Amino acid sequence: MNNIKFEDLGLKEGLLKAIKDMGFEEPSQIQAESIPIALQGFDIIGQAQTGTGKTAAFGCAIINNMTPNRKLPKALILAPTRELAIQVNEELVRLGKHERLSVLPIYGGQPIDRQFRALKQGVDIVVGTPGRILDHIRRGSLKLDEIEFLVLDEADEMLNMGFIEDIEEIVKSMKSERQTLLFSATMPKEIKNLAQRYMKKDLQHISIKKNSLTVSKISQYYFEIKHKDRFETLCRIIDFDEPNAAIIFCKTKKGVDELVEAMQSRGYVVEGMHGDMTQNHRMMTLKKFKEGNLDFLVATDVAARGIDVEGVTHVINYDLPQDNESYVHRIGRTGRANREGIAYSLVTPREYISLKQIQKATKSTIHRKAVPTADEIFETKFKNIINDVKETIEEEDFANFVPIATELDEEYNLVDVAAALMKMLFDKQTSFDYSQNSLETPASAEVRLFLSIGRRDGITPKTLVNFIKNTARVGSNQIGDIDLLENFCFVNVAEDAYARIMDNCSGQKLNRRKINIEVAKQKR
Ligand code: ADP
Ligand code: MG
Repeated sequence: MNNIKFEDLGLKEGLLKAIKDMGFEEPSQIQAESIPIALQGFDIIGQAQTGTGKTAAFGCAIINNMTPNRKLPKALILAPTRELAIQVNEELVRLGKHERLSVLPIYGGQPIDRQFRALKQGVDIVVGTPGRILDHIRRGSLKLDEIEFLVLDEADEMLNMGFIEDIEEIVKSMKSERQTLLFSATMPKEIKNLAQRYMKKDLQHISIKKNSLTVSKISQYYFEIKHKDRFETLCRIIDFDEPNAAIIFCKTKKGVDELVEAMQSRGYVVEGMHGDMTQNHRMMTLKKFKEGNLDFLVATDVAARGIDVEGVTHVINYDLPQDNESYVHRIGRTGRANREGIAYSLVTPREYISLKQIQKATKSTIHRKAVPTADEIFETKFKNIINDVKETIEEEDFANFVPIATELDEEYNLVDVAAALMKMLFDKQTSFDYSQNSLETPASAEVRLFLSIGRRDGITPKTLVNFIKNTARVGSNQIGDIDLLENFCFVNVAEDAYARIMDNCSGQKLNRRKINIEVAKQKR
């Protein structure tokens, strides 16, 4: 990609060794660009998508330049959630493995006494959530007098979670000669203000273009479904793909609970994660998932933000996300660190326009895919069974069963016996009782309207959208593609809005031309 090696970045031996142990081959773009600058002591604002290795970017710089003494902390890292604080902590421990370095995670939900004791024993790097950190500062158990490095990780998330005032209070309680590194996927105005007030004037901006790492490595597909078939579609997809580890997203906590229950009752190894669950519970679930003891994790956006699990092969949007950024966050859970991943979205006709907007905003291509038929699923399962049988035969570890087989041989045809055994295996492997071979595809999502107004009338797509929006009182998300021609135009609109648009806009005038509207032939 950029052919820069970790050895080129100016890092010391111990770190290079640790990086090697972690199996990183080459620095990601944000690492290659920010580490050398951070090593020179500059403040940095780093903007890059999730999954691009920002933790190691600041971790390397801090660990390289710090002289640890296990007394008062020299570095403070603020992260939005407990899960993220824990993950950052783990990564720093791995990076600092060859240094005499003590890293301490501090977050709410953990006994505060234990944190008091750990802080008293002396630490070099504290990683924590703003609320609990502030708590310790106020109680006097955390002293920031020696802080040389401050990291605001996932700053936009901290802002979204309402931590901005806590952060300001924390920053004010430390000395101003320090290096501040701020990382964020997006750069809203409040973050810029924060930087202006609390970072050095010569701070360096490093922005890595979207799509450079994660999204481009992720194959994105959508399935057009009827609302009533949502669950069956999910079962078909996962029965066919057999993901190693998949995260399935729902819009609401209730949605998570219901889906988990439905999946469990069909025998899938799955658990849910959302904000109503205790911290302990969520951590246990995440641990199980990380260790491969769960095939599926069903989560809300909030619960899954930033969680980093290696080897997630699939992200499935059971419900579409609320906004485009959530989509990027979600699918960033797969294809981590240059691995390939698959992202699926289930969309009803009604949701189709939202999907198109996501596609446009994220500059990605989301291909349509057909829901697997029952035949296709069975074929996959048959192949599995044949492979399992072959493997077992080749391992020759079935001597105990030979007498039983011989006994059956006297009574039955062995081909029948084998087929019966395979059916038993098969029944275990499929969850859903697929009564029809293929699901019906829903009627088209959009209606294509013909309007008797065109370029010669001096209209642009924008004036047209505004006209339709204002005249028919529909949202811009109900208006899709526009083909603007010289004398007329076609506008794709949401199925549930077209009648309203025809009623209200037909016969109206735009740029002094009276508009006639008809339903055009479907194109898609
Ligand atoms: P971000 O904070 O940008 O969302 P993380 O720092 O959590 O991303 O990194 C995502 C994953 O990529 C982690 O599992 C991390 O260990 C791994 N990773 C980071 N840098 C590299 C690299 N240079 N090569 C391979 N894997 C990496
Ligand atoms: Mg991060």
